Amino acid sequence: MPEQVVQQRSRGFICINSHPAGCAEAVARQIEVVRGGRPDGIEGPKRALIVGSSTGYGLASRIALGWGFGAKTLGVFFEKPPQGKRTATAGWYNTAAVQAAAKKEGLWAEGINGDAFSDEIKRETADTIARELGQVDLLIYSLASPRRTNPRSGETMQSALRPIGQSYSGKTIDLGNGQVTEAGAEPASEEEIRQTVEVMGGEDWGWWTELLLQEGLLADGARTLAYSYVGPEVTWPIYRDGTIGRAKQHLADTADRLDALLREKVGGGAWVSVNKAVVTQASSAIPVVPLYISLLFRVMKEKGVHEGTIEQMARLCFEHLQSGSEPKTDGARLIRLDDRELAEDVQQAVSELWPQVNTENLGELSDYAGFRSDFNELFGFGLDGVDYDSPVETDVAL
Ligand code: NAD
Repeated sequence: MPEQVVQQRSRGFICINSHPAGCAEAVARQIEVVRGGRPDGIEGPKRALIVGSSTGYGLASRIALGWGFGAKTLGVFFEKPPQGKRTATAGWYNTAAVQAAAKKEGLWAEGINGDAFSDEIKRETADTIARELGQVDLLIYSLASPRRTNPRSGETMQSALRPIGQSYSGKTIDLGNGQVTEAGAEPASEEEIRQTVEVMGGEDWGWWTELLLQEGLLADGARTLAYSYVGPEVTWPIYRDGTIGRAKQHLADTADRLDALLREKVGGGAWVSVNKAVVTQASSAIPVVPLYISLLFRVMKEKGVHEGTIEQMARLCFEHLQSGSEPKTDGARLIRLDDRELAEDVQQAVSELWPQVNTENLGELSDYAGFRSDFNELFGFGLDGVDYDSPVETDVAL
């Protein structure tokens, strides 16, 4: 395929293409963050499976484990390859960049592209672990998906972002035009709650863990982690107390069940890590969250406590996943990487800005510019040092 110039193309707020060199640059920067923050002499898991490894928290987990602990990583993701002149999705190029960077350093990193909810992809992953790694020490479950086909029932379910019990209205940014508007949502039906829990709850995480356990693919002391979010009160009606919150509660309950199982069978454990709000494809789709993130970023940057996705995952690895000690948790057995986000002074500053912000003062009161640039970078656009006027090879193989 001849090289081509790739300019960013969007439909509404969604970016519909991606830049291979930009994605590679974004991955290279994440690797540098991990290298720069690695404490001397720290040891951690050496073989990890990351389900949902191509973007967002899963990608950053993979990089933090690979370059922080020298871990061999197997990633599972659902991305579109390039097709003719059409670019691949960003997660495809991210994965190609991670695997190429790993190979250069003699670090094992392989990927499986397909539906992680399906039995076929679980089978292929288990076979790959048995053949290439023997066992894994860590399973990270970082899926964010709007739908799931349950292979046992054949039913396809959709997740919904709705409040429960009452309708909701709150400020948000229309990412298509940068206007601060009101977002409204009607309360979820029982069926929508059920489907959201099936898609984003812990059932599939449980199936992954049980399969690896049954087939002897979890090493002694193996751990598993899934990710959650709590956030501040302004987001609770639509997040924590809504359909997605129910799914996250199911995830936490699943962690407790899997923890007991792993302790008994391999002397390991299972946890949920509550991560801070960052810009990812999944979080940008949640009403209220982009406005909240824009205000939060301004406050956290001013206070010098800002963290992006990779800083969070480096902290997860270096403070919670090192060999020889258990992750530190709160009273509900949750790992809290959102401690800086939820610090009282940070939340106080955000809640003072919240009622004032409108379309006219958005640029001044918030870090919407930072949100936008992080958003563009998710697709490999707007990174310094990348020549967007030069043709690039878009037909990148994994
Ligand atoms: P993301 O959209 O960046 O990543 C989702 C990943 O899941 C991608 O690698 C994608 O390829 C993969 N995926 C989706 N459907 C799949 C399927 N059927 N089969 C295989 N792979 C599939 O999302 P994210 O924001 O990084 O979210 C990951 C987790 O982190 C979620 O549990 C989310 O709730 C949690 N979290 C996110 C934030 C945030 O602010 N973004 C904060 C706290 C917790």
